[in-house]
Amino acid sequence: MIANLINQLDNISSEADKEISSVNSLAQLNELHTKFLGRKGLVAKLMGAMRDLQPEDKPKLGQKANEVKSLITGILEKKEAELQANEDSEKIKKDKIDVSLPGTSQKTGGIHPLTQTINEIIDIFVQLGFAVEEGREIEDEWHTFDALNIPKSHPARDVQDTFFVKSSQEIDSSDNQNVLRTHTSPVQIRVMQNSTPPLKFIAPGRVYRNETIDASHYSMFHQVEGLYVNENVTFAELKGTLLSWAHAYYGPDVDLRFRPSYFPFTEPSAEVDVTCTMCAGKGCSVCKQTGWVEILGAGMVHPNVFKSVGYDPEKVSGFAFGMGPERIAMLKHRINDIRLFYENDTRFLKQFV
Ligand SMILES: [Zn+2]
Repeated sequence: MIANLINQLDNISSEADKEISSVNSLAQLNELHTKFLGRKGLVAKLMGAMRDLQPEDKPKLGQKANEVKSLITGILEKKEAELQANEDSEKIKKDKIDVSLPGTSQKTGGIHPLTQTINEIIDIFVQLGFAVEEGREIEDEWHTFDALNIPKSHPARDVQDTFFVKSSQEIDSSDNQNVLRTHTSPVQIRVMQNSTPPLKFIAPGRVYRNETIDASHYSMFHQVEGLYVNENVTFAELKGTLLSWAHAYYGPDVDLRFRPSYFPFTEPSAEVDVTCTMCAGKGCSVCKQTGWVEILGAGMVHPNVFKSVGYDPEKVSGFAFGMGPERIAMLKHRINDIRLFYENDTRFLKQFV
């Protein structure tokens, strides 16, 4: 009987060896541990026969069972270490960080294309000796129109063109209503009222018009206005100043063309074109085949403007000019819709970062 039991233990041992070598997961290995060495496992079951043995055979079976148990334990431990190592290396492979991959970039802000354009325009005029002045966006009619020689009958003063701060029903009989400034020219008036010539400054800022919004019109836009007042200021100085600015902004090959025009606050007045930079003046769709694009208005300060601020037009003269950064940026970057500037669409804005 003892020989038979020992033989069975050997069989369990070799069966365990075979089955353990073929498992490939720790869970399966755990099942085999229970099957062979568990409290109700094959070895334990066989030990149940102990009580039927002769007393001298009992230690023999006990010894053999211990040998088999430690053999199977050894095989299980070896297999467990092997499987554990495999799992670890799989995990390492899965979690591996490739440090050469590009990181997730943060979205960063940028300077708005209009602000960039305004800053570029300002920088050049500062180098030409101009100071920078700012004024209020809510202005009274006198500073916006009267002082700039714009008569009461002028269509610009109509509610169709100008935002009055009171609604049209509320506008009282007073002839000096508050308006959203329609141009930056009231800054000229306020600076001249508070200073004596010589004066040389630019005034960048937002202006407002009661416009129907479309691809080339918006109810709010920007102007950069310039004013130079001194004794004996000439039109030639105006031309020289604007040409210096154009060469700095567009490059040394552009030219300016002055076309006679009319503005209430300057006399003589001119609309000023610059050589089309898209075609270098040869003619293209941007310049409508003319080789020129209009970029600003300018002229010699009207004597009535000087009178309105208490300057003697017999003693001082000056030039003024105004340009639209939206138009300049649109021409430069070939932007075909002014509304893009104000919609905050990052697909548009990120092109200028
Ligand atoms: Zn052109």
